[in-house]
Amino acid sequence: MSASSEYLPPEYYLEKLVAFDTISHRSNLQLVDWLCEILKKHHLTPHRIVSKDGQKASVFVTIGEPQGDSRNAGIGLSGHTDVVPVKDQPWTSDPFRLRLDDGRLYGRGTADMKGFLACMLASIPYFKNAKRSSPIHLLFSYDEEIGCTGVRPMIEKLGVTLPKPRIVIVGEPTAMRVVDAHKGIRSFITQVQGLEAHSSTPQKGINAIMLAADLITGLAQQAQALQQSEGNHRFDPPYSTVHVGTISGGTAQNIIPRYCQFRWECRLLPGHDGQNILASFEQRCEAHRKTIKKMAPGADIRTRAVHHVPAFGACDNSEAIALALSCSQQTQTFAVSYGTEAGLFERAGCACVVCGPGDIAQAHKPDEYIEKAELEKCMAFLRRLATYELSDKLHPPYPLPA
Ligand SMILES: [Zn+2]
Repeated sequence: MSASSEYLPPEYYLEKLVAFDTISHRSNLQLVDWLCEILKKHHLTPHRIVSKDGQKASVFVTIGEPQGDSRNAGIGLSGHTDVVPVKDQPWTSDPFRLRLDDGRLYGRGTADMKGFLACMLASIPYFKNAKRSSPIHLLFSYDEEIGCTGVRPMIEKLGVTLPKPRIVIVGEPTAMRVVDAHKGIRSFITQVQGLEAHSSTPQKGINAIMLAADLITGLAQQAQALQQSEGNHRFDPPYSTVHVGTISGGTAQNIIPRYCQFRWECRLLPGHDGQNILASFEQRCEAHRKTIKKMAPGADIRTRAVHHVPAFGACDNSEAIALALSCSQQTQTFAVSYGTEAGLFERAGCACVVCGPGDIAQAHKPDEYIEKAELEKCMAFLRRLATYELSDKLHPPYPLPA
């Protein structure tokens, strides 16, 4: 890349990024190959963390060298490369072709969150030329949309074979507002194995659907209790929630259904781990189990955890929040109800903040778009970040690496 073409606008990168169909169940390796080429043209050394099946990869790259205090491991910018499906959504144009209309850039992932990735790439020359005393790391993950699973192997390597950023900015769409807390997510599949019978003799069977309905009623009661007992008004809604997303089962109207399964989730306020919700659900399952096992030994209720995205809540004097407020020239922080990778980075000992371009209201929708002005706001943020120096003093509760 010649010096004159180094400074490219984020739209240039966004157009390329959107063109890669990186819906979560597909490989992201074409995008990763392209990404690594760009990084190499900037004379950087990307590290790939390849998934077990070899179909996907995260990328970690460092700009600059740690100087002086080697504990000062710099600032990480993190974004996911995957996007949600477009199937059955009424798009008015090709979701994988960036379209500019009236100041808005349309395409799958423009808001969530290839817009931020584009700004990260467009900012590399600024980061390189800033003569910083601490490095900036770029982290590109996969499978965020299916439970933040792809970032985990990369996080395991931080402070081991990869440098551990002292601060991580997760660029999910917040319209460049500074988000210091979000809810956690735990999701489950419950399978009810009943006993088939003719519908004229329900007493001879175990109706898996009706049993599932009773379990769901229990979840609804728990949801209501949470609504009445919790009230953290930084969140909308101000309480933890429980919801059933899908249910399936049964064969025909005149057969007592043998099988039913449903998927459900809890969205938990920071500090609420959801264990009591699960325990009380299990209690209800156990009560049923005792009865149905007497009728049919094969009858059972099984619940399997699917995903756990930890909640995020920055500490009061978080230097990540101070940095984001300074670079965004804002004074207020916000909490959101959607999950991100921030809770995982926080658990790994990185001070975290969520701040990125675009509106979450546009994410996951047909005709997803990002305002061009949002990209410009993000670029201004990253240009300020390029010259933002971390203080020598580390803030609790982020201990120094040994
Ligand atoms: Zn996202």
